[in-house]
Amino acid sequence: MDAEARFPSEAVSALRHSGLLGLTLPDEVGGLGAGPHELVEVISSLAGACGSTAMIYLMHVSASMTVAAAPPPGLPDLLSALGKGDMLASLAFSELGSRSHFWAPVSKSRRTRDGVFLEARKSWVTSAGHADLYVASTLNSDADTVDLFAVPASAPGISITGDWRGLGLRGNASNPMGFEVEVPATNRIGEAGTGFELMLQTVMPWFNLGNAAVSVGLSESAVAAAIRHTSAARLEHLDQSLSALPTIRAQLAKMSIDLSCTRAYVEQAAGRIAEPQEDTPLHVLGVKAAGNDAALRITDAAMRVCGGAAFSEHLQVDRYFRDARAGSVMAPTADVLYDFYGKAITNQPLF
Ligand SMILES: Cc1cc2nc3c(=O)[nH]c(=O)nc-3n(C[C@H](O)[C@H](O)[C@H](O)COP(=O)(O)OP(=O)(O)OC[C@H]3O[C@@H](n4cnc5c(N)ncnc54)[C@H](O)[C@@H]3O)c2cc1C
Repeated sequence: MDAEARFPSEAVSALRHSGLLGLTLPDEVGGLGAGPHELVEVISSLAGACGSTAMIYLMHVSASMTVAAAPPPGLPDLLSALGKGDMLASLAFSELGSRSHFWAPVSKSRRTRDGVFLEARKSWVTSAGHADLYVASTLNSDADTVDLFAVPASAPGISITGDWRGLGLRGNASNPMGFEVEVPATNRIGEAGTGFELMLQTVMPWFNLGNAAVSVGLSESAVAAAIRHTSAARLEHLDQSLSALPTIRAQLAKMSIDLSCTRAYVEQAAGRIAEPQEDTPLHVLGVKAAGNDAALRITDAAMRVCGGAAFSEHLQVDRYFRDARAGSVMAPTADVLYDFYGKAITNQPLF
């Protein structure tokens, strides 16, 4: 998938059939009724094998949970289609105009005689051209507030407007997309003007936690690959393995400890989202930044200890390293999250 930058259709099809596309949706709509802890387990396992599949899955879960928070009345069967895995969904938020400030679309929708016309140019949409449903954000022209719409991929006026070529997550199909599409007003998710709230209250907790879990999965695989390689690689003239070198051993130890600390924090954040407490918002902000930065450190160290074997792509370590770079630039970016976290602990308003 990575070598060909190909969308992992086989993996997505397996997820559809396994029931995991409905993991966090309620039983009543065909989902598995699981929560944040199970999501971390599933996403980190997927990411350990294929970062692209894990991110595609996370986008689907984030979009599904947004639909579940306020199911659009115009699409009464949508939630059960998502729950049963009949539909793959994604988020179409980011725009060139507001870049990583995903909460601030600059594109507009306007009311028409029969519904709402969305005119939006989205800069990155994971699963573009492969998803069955896009949750798209626009400003509404009445009040300049944010609306979210469920837009079926079959709606006329949706286009892929560019290529996807990433350093990592190369299977993601995170292409730019154009929406010039009319949908019934009843496709809106939630009341008019509640999109920003939905982004903060629903999208952020699930997306940030899941994104941290992708980082953990990539880090776990990088640590395992580094231990495997340095234990097997021989310095024959010294009759020892690479891992017998004190510097290498110390690096492996640091990576392993970093991973354990991060995993524990991600588990703690999952608990705070499952059973909200006063410091849940801090965990929502902190978990993605911490997970993303740990993955940068850990995969960088894995490249270093594996040396030329990693650089020449003989191991999978270069892929973990490249895939891990996506997390911290995905919105909310790690740096924005540190800024928000800092504001929160010093009692300053986030926006
Ligand atoms: C693999 C991948 C998949 C993606 N999939 C999707 C998707 O499915 N749907 C979607 O909507 N979007 C998606 N995105 C887009 C993503 O969420 C971001 O919007 C995008 O990566 C931002 O890139 P940019 O160059 O516009 O960032 P910029 O906003 O230009 O950021 C550049 C730098 O400025 C920093 N910065 C910006 N604002 C601040 C601030 N206030 N304080 C401190 N630092 C700041 C950032 O942290 C970053 O380091 C995806 C991105 C990637 C890489």
